[in-house]
Amino acid sequence: MSERVYIFDTTLRDGEQSPGCSMNTEEKLLVARKLVDLGVDILEAGFPIASDGDFDAVRRVGAEFPDVRVAALGRTVPKDIERAARALEGVKNPRIHCFIATSEIHLKYKFNKTQDEILEQAVRGVELAKQYVDDVEWSAEDGSRTEIGYLCRISKACVDAGATTINIPDTVGFCTPDHYAEIIGAVVEAVGDRAVVSVHTHDDLGLATANAIAALKAGARQIECAMNGIGERAGNCSLEEVAAILNVRHDRVPFHTGIRLEKLYAASQALSSVITFGPQPNKAIVGRNAFAHEAGIHQDGYLKHRSTYEIMAPESVGVPTSRLVLGKHSGRHALHQRIVDLGYGDLAKDDTLRVYEAFTQMADTRKGVLDEDIVALLEELGFRKLELVAQ
Ligand code: MN
Repeated sequence: MSERVYIFDTTLRDGEQSPGCSMNTEEKLLVARKLVDLGVDILEAGFPIASDGDFDAVRRVGAEFPDVRVAALGRTVPKDIERAARALEGVKNPRIHCFIATSEIHLKYKFNKTQDEILEQAVRGVELAKQYVDDVEWSAEDGSRTEIGYLCRISKACVDAGATTINIPDTVGFCTPDHYAEIIGAVVEAVGDRAVVSVHTHDDLGLATANAIAALKAGARQIECAMNGIGERAGNCSLEEVAAILNVRHDRVPFHTGIRLEKLYAASQALSSVITFGPQPNKAIVGRNAFAHEAGIHQDGYLKHRSTYEIMAPESVGVPTSRLVLGKHSGRHALHQRIVDLGYGDLAKDDTLRVYEAFTQMADTRKGVLDEDIVALLEELGFRKLELVAQ
């Protein structure tokens, strides 16, 4: 049996705090239901000190989903931690997630404090959180740009103070996979098996998922991610990408999670329905074109055997079916198949060729060809739908 990796979903917190992604409590509950169905381990439902809405969301998500662990975020200052603790009152599986920035840049420009002062504050915060809940996660904000010796020292101190998860975020999306793995490896070595080491990555350089995956090999056992990759700036690590990678490439990334892969698409769609945008069309796994084939050679190969151009079945991640998109790159084989699907029967080779010539002329002038266009073309060339002919 491979090792278990915990999926910490932050769609409702990091995701929600990005432009165009605000959700009210009812909307958060709707998305939370899909995430629980999907099988995430920890749901970060809000930042209670930030707003009453966040406070309420943590409380309601906690009440409605007693079997999932619910996290509330706060800085390592007493008023944040107390507010998070109050939001989590009565929640069956509560986690307080507290953070403080640790990098030189943040210490100098944000706090004007020394490393020792920050360490002291982090430890006091964890100790306070521990008075309310057993499950305390501590995060080193801007961890990836923190001097490594200090990062290990403060992480150890937070574990001594009671933190059971140590999260090292690449807050600004600055790391490369080898660099991040190096940092995570050092922290894993420093804290040993006394805490789970967690990763939280951002996609500013398009490396969020690659960084998270690299960190698993260095010993991380929790991944913080969001559905559709939403989150601050370029977004967080995509939950659907992590889940698919661990499944499709289990040979190279031998870990497992509690995610039910076939529920991914429904969760993605539910999220898209409550925020202002869906995943971009070419988004991995959940984008509209993720299982669409237009190039002729690809369509021909795909129709002969799906495995020629698909590394996973769309149904395995809950996507209804692959789509053959007809356009100027399509070949005769795909067009012939579409003619059959549209109900015009198994055309003879000459007939198919005739339709194909007219089709390529039309396709040349457009971005894509709709089924209606093909029907119009067939009718113009004198073909009739089979059931109509029968009547
Ligand atoms: Mn973040």
